[in-house]
Amino acid sequence: MDIIHLLPDSVANQIAAGEVIQRPASCLKELVENSLDAGAKRIQILVRDAGRTLLQVIDDGIGMSEMDARLAFERHATSKIREAKDLFSLRTMGFRGEALASICAVAQVEMTTRRAEDETGTLIEIHGSDVVRQEACSCPVGTNIKVSNLFFNVPVRRKFLKSDQTELRNLMTEFYHIALVYPKVAFTFVHNDEILLELPVGTEKQRIEAIFGNPKRNVYTSNFVDINTETDLVSIRGFVIKPENATKKAEQYFFVNGRYMRHPYFLKAVQTAYSGMLANDYQPSFFIYFDINPDAIDVNIHPTKTEIKFADEQTIFQILMASVREALGKFTLAPQIDFDTTGSIDIPLPQSDRVSQPRVNIDPNYNPFHTRGSIYPDRPQAVKGWESLYEGLSRPEEMPISQEANPNGLAIGDSDQAPLWQHGKYLFMSTEEGVLLIHPRRAHVCVLYAQFIEQLAHAQGAMQQLLFPEVMTLQQDEMVLAEQLLPDLRSIGFELEQLSPDSYSIQGIPSQLANQSALPVLQEILKNVRERGADTRNEWREQIALSLAQSAAIPSGKRMNEAEMRDLVKRLFALPAYRITPDGKTVVSLMTDEEISKRF
Ligand code: ADP
Ligand code: MG
Repeated sequence: MDIIHLLPDSVANQIAAGEVIQRPASCLKELVENSLDAGAKRIQILVRDAGRTLLQVIDDGIGMSEMDARLAFERHATSKIREAKDLFSLRTMGFRGEALASICAVAQVEMTTRRAEDETGTLIEIHGSDVVRQEACSCPVGTNIKVSNLFFNVPVRRKFLKSDQTELRNLMTEFYHIALVYPKVAFTFVHNDEILLELPVGTEKQRIEAIFGNPKRNVYTSNFVDINTETDLVSIRGFVIKPENATKKAEQYFFVNGRYMRHPYFLKAVQTAYSGMLANDYQPSFFIYFDINPDAIDVNIHPTKTEIKFADEQTIFQILMASVREALGKFTLAPQIDFDTTGSIDIPLPQSDRVSQPRVNIDPNYNPFHTRGSIYPDRPQAVKGWESLYEGLSRPEEMPISQEANPNGLAIGDSDQAPLWQHGKYLFMSTEEGVLLIHPRRAHVCVLYAQFIEQLAHAQGAMQQLLFPEVMTLQQDEMVLAEQLLPDLRSIGFELEQLSPDSYSIQGIPSQLANQSALPVLQEILKNVRERGADTRNEWREQIALSLAQSAAIPSGKRMNEAEMRDLVKRLFALPAYRITPDGKTVVSLMTDEEISKRF
């Protein structure tokens, strides 16, 4: 007896559907990509109940003939000729012409479509692969496809859908990936009759701003710098956030040849380029577009995955890192100077041995500031931020021995003799590499912060008795917070005694803040801990240390004498991380000799 038999079409389609259409978001992606393939200039997306009840895509593309409208829902029906080389095939490899067949197997689909040359359009209705209606209709040029009750006949899948909130987020994410690379197509996204996004035609930057430039997302393109690098292997361009505008939740997007991709390894390259520039927990936002010969991409990857493998990832890693560094370096060094260079790094790469034998020589520690035993040593631990740097003063294992011995090489020795002067708010110091610009208040914040962190770790704060005790009255929620912080506040030098259920008397203050009023300092600490979301003891300590450092540091613009300047600079360079303050502000910046000479 035969035990092998062919699956009925509808079953086969359901199986295929399981792979192509996992959730409303994957359905939306297929529909919108079809509209783009059809040359649409305007696409409307209407969603109900996060796609559970309705997913509708209306386009003004080329539309379909009566015959095509029917064929489109057959498996392997496709009007698109593709080669493996064709980058478009990347996403649908192995599923050519299967999207609509898969969708109609697991939903109730109604479509109207018309080509410009036809007078009447076609309406077709399919429920779970069965055509229930096909007739002529009058409709505008383009295609209007309505997918209702997704997975109505696959209860298991329906059950596995997450909350509406999660599925809507997935839909939006999928939508961003597409909308970001098609700024020349107008989109509208409507959910439950509410217009969530209205994206007019514009430039890439305008599209980014239109999607993310709101207070909630907080991504404004004016906070970005351009990157731009052309090599024989790859061209990389895009926008990376200025370090000072980084946030804890970042928008990070890579695109290759007009397609979104995830790439953890390249993400690392970008993060490495920001080493030491971001405060703890902060992430760089970026939008980076790669253009590469499709031959250099491994197309043999699952179509629904967004990971893409490149033939020469290590080389691209370095080119990417160098490119981001260059952009950031230029920005942090002298934002006021208008460079007339294009900013591209030329990395010649012989065409013939491109993939087999990469000969790009980029030092992974490439630093636009300087590379040899510099006052800007690249310290891997800087990425980890301040917390780990000071905790018990133990250094992370992976720190290179040479840096362990003298973390700041040249600078400490030289800073005693190097010409150092004050001009306006800033200090200037001549060094081997150029003129170093130092922000004295921020430098002082760094120095004090390190001190406070260490004192907190060892409960060694020094206390100065207040002549006139002050009283701090707190709200209910502040009281809870204050109780949590009390041991650390005491160990750093505050003397506090509970007066009543909602008040403390303050009798002592950390000696670095002597002569200041204690109350505003304490209020600032409570405010910062609450607002900056410090949840762990280490995070409270960071906020306490930072608030105290900011309260105790010299004011901006304070005149300093020679000894004060020398002392500050020396202490600053003795720190393991001194380029940025713990809250991410630039402390030192270098204007290289080369940049100075460019001005003449
Ligand atoms: P594929 O996109 O891989 O060809 P699909 O199942 O997604 O497979 O679509 C099948 C065919 O239906 C397409 O090749 C195209 O000819 C036609 N089609 C689908 N959507 C549209 C649309 N919005 N406008 C015009 N034609 C479309
Ligand atoms: Mg398709």
